[in-house]
Amino acid sequence: MNIFTIKNNRENKKIIDLGNGITIGGNEFTVISGPCAVEGEEQIETSAKALSDMGIRILRGGAFKPRTSPYTFQGLGFEGLRLLKNAGQRYKMKIVSEIMDPRDLDASYDYVDIIQIGSRNMQNYTLLKEAGKLDKPVLLKRGMASTIEEWLMAAEYIASEGNENIILCERGIRTFEKYTRNTLDLTVVPIIKELANLPIIIDPSHGTGRKELIRPATRAAVAIGADGVMIETHPNPSEALSDGKQSLDIEEMKTVLLDIESIKDCISKLNS
Ligand code: PEP
Ligand code: MN
Repeated sequence: MNIFTIKNNRENKKIIDLGNGITIGGNEFTVISGPCAVEGEEQIETSAKALSDMGIRILRGGAFKPRTSPYTFQGLGFEGLRLLKNAGQRYKMKIVSEIMDPRDLDASYDYVDIIQIGSRNMQNYTLLKEAGKLDKPVLLKRGMASTIEEWLMAAEYIASEGNENIILCERGIRTFEKYTRNTLDLTVVPIIKELANLPIIIDPSHGTGRKELIRPATRAAVAIGADGVMIETHPNPSEALSDGKQSLDIEEMKTVLLDIESIKDCISKLNS
């Protein structure tokens, strides 16, 4: 694998610094949460308030949604980004949101702190290269049918243009198994730690597609050494316009945060 910009060793691990003391990588375990999609002002404000009250400092929310069917909710577009940024500013949270079209990158720049490149666009080389020209961190999801090498090469496309602030996100891959939406490949965490110097987080929502699996998968993500998780939450998951089945409500998210602290304690005892 000819990667040149991303270091293929354990040294000089990258720490993504988002400002205000918010980082991804290093010794931190970072929790990103928010709804699959921004649906309106009240929904995103309620989410941001509840999550920031729990100590979560990075808010997710899709404004441009890559839906399987063109006839389902496609996201609020730039209006969604505006609502997201307002909520983030009010509760002092950083923003991550997916950009699908390279033509939207410039206009989105001021609204997001991290540009998400989704699973379906992992090999959209035009998008990767354009994101690589920006001085804004990129959260690069693993393609649902991509090998580790293809994924790292996609990261290399971004880095080759100058932007090395990349966070990898494992979100499950397609297998023959139908019970779960995807098969969450957790062993990719230690593999990436061996092969690259980039932080890697886990998305147990898309990785499983089932809310009851988010808690155990998050425990495992902490234990296996991930740098964080991104979990979909919604004030009222049963009414969500997308991905309600894999979204936690606010109380469930609080329980997951307690779990994360407990597993972190266990792991630091094992390591000491
Ligand atoms: C998302 O995070 O909302 C999303 C669409 O994820 P993925 O690209 O992993 O399907
Ligand atoms: Mn989603």
